[in-house]
Amino acid sequence: MSEIEKYIAPEEVAEAVEALGTGGVTIVAGGTDLTPQINEGRCHYEPTLMNIQRIEELNRISLTDGEIRIGCLATVSEIWYNDIIIEHADILCQTANCFASDQIRNAATIGGNICNASPAGDMIIPLLVLGASVELASWKEGAMEIRREPLDKFFKGPGKTIRNENELLVAVIFDKPSADFIGQFRKSGPRPALEISTVTVGIGGDLKDGKLENVRVAFGAVGPTPLRGKATEVALEGQILTEDIISNAAAAAQKDASPIDDIRATTWYRNHLIAVFTEELLNNVC
Ligand SMILES: Cc1cc2nc3c(=O)[nH]c(=O)nc-3n(C[C@H](O)[C@H](O)[C@H](O)COP(=O)(O)OP(=O)(O)OC[C@H]3O[C@@H](n4cnc5c(N)ncnc54)[C@H](O)[C@@H]3O)c2cc1C
Repeated sequence: MSEIEKYIAPEEVAEAVEALGTGGVTIVAGGTDLTPQINEGRCHYEPTLMNIQRIEELNRISLTDGEIRIGCLATVSEIWYNDIIIEHADILCQTANCFASDQIRNAATIGGNICNASPAGDMIIPLLVLGASVELASWKEGAMEIRREPLDKFFKGPGKTIRNENELLVAVIFDKPSADFIGQFRKSGPRPALEISTVTVGIGGDLKDGKLENVRVAFGAVGPTPLRGKATEVALEGQILTEDIISNAAAAAQKDASPIDDIRATTWYRNHLIAVFTEELLNNVC
């Protein structure tokens, strides 16, 4: 285990990104993933520990020009009680309601949930349903450079993403959903919250004249990364949610998923749940 040689707590994004560019930096936001991982020896500190909590602009949630932007430091609690999110993206509130305890929700940030890249990261599922992208900032030739990447291309495997070590995830962004948008989230586990998910399902789309359009489906804890349910989306796109369409979608969901056996659930049980939850959510909206 390496020792921390230096602690920094920048107040500006540019300052943080410049520091990251020098290398050997561990970023800490809420610390709710990092601290247990360090304590259990699953990762180690780099020589510099950078606390980003003092960068005020990174916890803002805004709606500008039809785009909703959530700063990386917005906590699960702040997202849950934010008026913009309540009005336009309630699926995030549904998820926050199933997330950990009050204490953890008050510390856990959206940026940390995404960058930790757990296949069971709960907040990632509604963000995939909302078609979100992430903004990654780095320091190049004396100035800050920002790239935007779709969230569904961000994850590479458990704990692995396309983010380079010199990049700070500054925000997650998505288009304001239309007035017809409906989004539904479901999480399993022996308890409704304070539980690492065994299966999560998110479904969203515009419900017009009984038909579901612009459908996005996402699944958690049923593959090496949180994933889009492409076969399920095809089964649902432009369809009226009849009994047959719903059972086709449930079968497609099982094709999209590739769960494993682990200490929390068997492959069989996860495959069963994914179909049951898909059916349940679709029955809720029709
Ligand atoms: C008791 C308990 C219950 C939990 N329950 C749930 C749950 O129900 N659902 C769930 O999904 N998770 C749960 N978690 C996990 C954790 O709370 C979340 O993943 C949380 O969102 C992580 O955010 P954080 O700010 O604490 O991240 P941190 O621990 O500070 O950071 C996590 C990782 O991301 C990196 N990082 C953080 N911010 C950035 C950034 N802006 N740019 C680049 N890298 C960054 C850090 O370097 C670190 O590697 C639980 C944890 C605990 C301890």
